[in-house]
Amino acid sequence: MINQMLTVRGIGASPGIVIGQVHLLGRQEWQIPRRSIEPDQIEEELDRFDLAIQASLQQIQSTLDRLGQAGDEGILIIESHRMMLQDEMLVERTHDLIKNSLLGAEDALDQTLATLSQAFSQLTVRYFRERVADLRSVGNLVMRNLLGQIESPLHLVPPGSIVVAHELSAPQAAELTLKQIKALVTEVGGITCHTAIMARAMEIPAVVGVTGICMVATNGQQLAVDGRLGQVILNPDQETCRHLHQQRDRQIAELAKLTSRSQQAAVTRDGVTIRVEGNIEYLEEIENLRSRGGTGIGLFRTEYLLLSGSAINDENSQVELYRQVLQRSAPHRATLRTLDMGRDKTLEGVRLDTAAENPALGLRGIRLSLLETQTFKLQLRALLRASTHGKMRLIIPFVTSLKEVREAKTLLAQVKEELRRENHPFDESIPFGIMIEIPSAAITADILAAEVDFFSIGTNDLVQYTLGVDRNNQMVASLYQELHPAVLRTLRQVVQAAVQAEIEVAICGEMAGEPQNIPLLLGCGLTCLSMNPISIPQVKETIRLCNMVDCKRFFDELLRCETTSEITARVRDYHRALLATGAGD
Ligand code: PEP
Ligand code: MG
Repeated sequence: MINQMLTVRGIGASPGIVIGQVHLLGRQEWQIPRRSIEPDQIEEELDRFDLAIQASLQQIQSTLDRLGQAGDEGILIIESHRMMLQDEMLVERTHDLIKNSLLGAEDALDQTLATLSQAFSQLTVRYFRERVADLRSVGNLVMRNLLGQIESPLHLVPPGSIVVAHELSAPQAAELTLKQIKALVTEVGGITCHTAIMARAMEIPAVVGVTGICMVATNGQQLAVDGRLGQVILNPDQETCRHLHQQRDRQIAELAKLTSRSQQAAVTRDGVTIRVEGNIEYLEEIENLRSRGGTGIGLFRTEYLLLSGSAINDENSQVELYRQVLQRSAPHRATLRTLDMGRDKTLEGVRLDTAAENPALGLRGIRLSLLETQTFKLQLRALLRASTHGKMRLIIPFVTSLKEVREAKTLLAQVKEELRRENHPFDESIPFGIMIEIPSAAITADILAAEVDFFSIGTNDLVQYTLGVDRNNQMVASLYQELHPAVLRTLRQVVQAAVQAEIEVAICGEMAGEPQNIPLLLGCGLTCLSMNPISIPQVKETIRLCNMVDCKRFFDELLRCETTSEITARVRDYHRALLATGAGD
């Protein structure tokens, strides 16, 4: 176990500073399959175990690369983990149990770990006794690779803890963010992964992409999390804690100051009013949205409401949920997106191909809805029936072609006809929009614009698919560049198509919640921005410093830049200069 202070860097996913105790989502919550095998399965089980060891060795190597500057102790510990993984005590014993006791690989590993832990803890030399924790870390790693994924009962997580996990599925992250936890730290993920989105939504500090943290942290250890800097500090000393507490107080005061002004409209210096809305996943967030100064919901991701419970198949329950969304956001409008399942968002009863080699390119969003028409139509019926309770807009995700838009509209028309026959009232003029988040939709935006009432640009996916960079993979996080020249050109193309067709275009990707990006987004012609509510006060403040005419000129300059780094530098400098102009306000 590491006793000294150790700082590990990751990706800042949700701002805020907290210090608390680690709760590792690890082995203790796994279901280890207890099974005997047939003699002809021995080879297969030995192979599975050896592959898990190989994968673990590779992960350790990448941790060592990452910990390059983290201090000697961390490196020594991880080196010792590597040696343990290659030690015949661990490997040979497990092989032996598979071959001679005909145990499944997980069971054999578990028994080996139990025997070795007991032997280590009885040794008189303290150094060896302390190696039990390391053995457990190494065992967890191999077990995780053997099991393929972690499915942990989350009710064991103590309130007030800092949850440290390798990876969280969307339902896990959803459940955790609704619990009273202090912070989330994961080994994998990027700035727009769903753990990050949910942590921001619930205003819980989070750092993702902290490679190796599950190997060095243990339950109950003190951990400091700085979600803005993207840094975690294991065993912070007194001086560090004092400094972090000061920083935290400063950040809270700054947010409170901005929030106090956030109910005022977002009007640029030259008088253009910008609509600032929120991206919402849960009913509970709507109050936050209001207090942070959001005027309506620009994107309601309905899949999160339906992730648990049986509402997915129950029209009346869905009507009630959507009614609440509209009533809580009144008098403002709410844009509700139909189910966007797939990849890390899975739902019982909905067909998914998460086992596909490339799920991000598989059955997702509207593709899935057009196959599972019963689920889709049930949701459309519920949405329409709730539409009389406020100002609803409908939007569909993951559109790639005109055919999909037309098919979705045909189903919508059928549902409307059914409801009329059944005398269910609904808003006859409900606006119908599409997410522009796939390059094919962006490139054909002029064609699609003729078919819909509005666009909302989802840059989280648009960047991923334009650049071919997984938004959830921390190994390519530096290549996930929202300011890539290709992204800016795509934005301009979509906005121009919408302007030409005289339909509204908004942006709802995480890009809109970054204050530095505001001048370029306004300059591109976007006057409707939707973001995580916590970003709203700062974004509104930035808008008030902008001048639309200057922003347009600035955006044109950016379009002439050839590299992301040039654009990034200009965007940063422009924002700095803007803040300087408002320093006296
Ligand atoms: C997006 O892709 O930008 C978006 C807003 O949708 P999601 O993050 O839910 O994929
Ligand atoms: Mg998306």
